[in-house]
Amino acid sequence: MKPQPRSNAKPSTNPKPSTKSTASTKSTRAAALLAAFAKVYPEAHCELGFSSPLELLVATILSAQCTDKRVNMVTPALFKKYPNARAYAEAPQAELEKQIQSTGFFRSKAKNLRSMAADLVSKHGGKVPATMDDLTALAGVGRKTANVVLGNAFAISEGVVVDTHVRRLSRRLGLTRHTDPAKIEADLMKLIPRSQWAVFSHWLIWHGRRRCFARKPDCDSCEVQHLCPSAFKAV
Ligand code: SF4
Repeated sequence: MKPQPRSNAKPSTNPKPSTKSTASTKSTRAAALLAAFAKVYPEAHCELGFSSPLELLVATILSAQCTDKRVNMVTPALFKKYPNARAYAEAPQAELEKQIQSTGFFRSKAKNLRSMAADLVSKHGGKVPATMDDLTALAGVGRKTANVVLGNAFAISEGVVVDTHVRRLSRRLGLTRHTDPAKIEADLMKLIPRSQWAVFSHWLIWHGRRRCFARKPDCDSCEVQHLCPSAFKAV
């Protein structure tokens, strides 16, 4: 028997829903999430302890592959021992390594801290610069670290912090389909008003730490479950 041409096939009565988010559904969802998170986490803030741009820059470098809690255990003594950029630049590598050992990857972190501080001394008179270009030109400072420092120490929004939580949650919440942090950041910058870039990343980080865990998200208790396309599906 000859196969029937495809054009004669009956249309499905149960089409699969599209998994693609249109630009308008994304922006509607983003607006609803902003309103919801503002109520859930009105006190959200950077959880690293600091009292100056240099302290925040150092703490953020130490926070790579480490919890803020652990960093906050190390930094009070560190900040006391190295009160300015010159002190880090002139610190012996082994001494600095010992001081930050418990944050992990301490050899490369100590090397980065010394190089970054040497750049601050030689190019910026020991001060932390307040632009994305100047910050990312420092040794060991990437866009994520620069965004943390600009947003929290200088209240300047040049971008959105995309750390591991922001990366995971922005995908689960259907705000981006990308995995590359630079592309995720570009998507979020289009969806979120500039005045909320800093607080939005705090909200995602707080939610990632309190509800939307990497392995077992607590969708049952999640305050934004009604807005989440991954509710009870994310693993
Ligand atoms: S519903 Fe689940 S997957 Fe979605 S944000 Fe909440 S915890 Fe995460």
